[in-house]
Amino acid sequence: MKKLIIAIDGPSGAGKSTLSKRLAAALGYVNIDTGAMYRAVALMAGRQQIPLDDAEALARLCHTMKLEFRRDAQAETEAVLVNGEDVSLAIRAPEVSLQTSKVAACPAVRKELVCLQQRLGQGGGVVLEGRDIGTVVFPQAEVKFFLTASAAERGRRRWAELQARGVDVDLPQTIAEVEARDVADSNRLHAPLKRAADAINIDSDGQSIEEVLALMQRGVQCALGGKGQLS
Ligand code: C5P
Repeated sequence: MKKLIIAIDGPSGAGKSTLSKRLAAALGYVNIDTGAMYRAVALMAGRQQIPLDDAEALARLCHTMKLEFRRDAQAETEAVLVNGEDVSLAIRAPEVSLQTSKVAACPAVRKELVCLQQRLGQGGGVVLEGRDIGTVVFPQAEVKFFLTASAAERGRRRWAELQARGVDVDLPQTIAEVEARDVADSNRLHAPLKRAADAINIDSDGQSIEEVLALMQRGVQCALGGKGQLS
């Protein structure tokens, strides 16, 4: 069976992470969380006090930091490691989320991370989630999804996720932060958040994870079946 490249793009809190992991597990594919990479760069830039407008220093940081994903298929978890340190929790802190949108607007950072993502995904058998997978990283991906939901719903989901992790945040503030990131990600000059013309649009408002997953699986089956030669 041919191993596909599957792109899942969309704004924050649309359910990309959960669905990307579930879809990858169902297909026996590798899941690649590209947002975690931008988050790791933002975290390290903060720790090293690199100004977020210093493109050269940020590019140097991308070159020198060792970024790894450690998957535990049994426990269905995925840790993000930077220079051997598990930063999975640290990169999800609300202040890191806001800094990440700034770091992600830097072309030098994008160049480094897009190269890494292309290396990791080129063999196929991957589900990549992000903002520019179907438009920039893998415009040739066989299946592309653009996952959306209303800002209120996305903010509520992000809030519930943070609460579950013991991070006490305010709901209206979380919704406002989600909206602020949407504006920053959609309006930046380089690789803004944008639906690829050939992406399948899915609005997850009012739909369960299972329902959206079933829709995605049908999209994948279509891509496999529709091209006949792929299997
Ligand atoms: O998906 P997640 O919310 O973890 O992404 C964090 C931030 O990383 C986004 O708000 C966006 O600024 C940036 N990002 C990006 N391109 C990607 C993935 C994430 O610019 N492919």
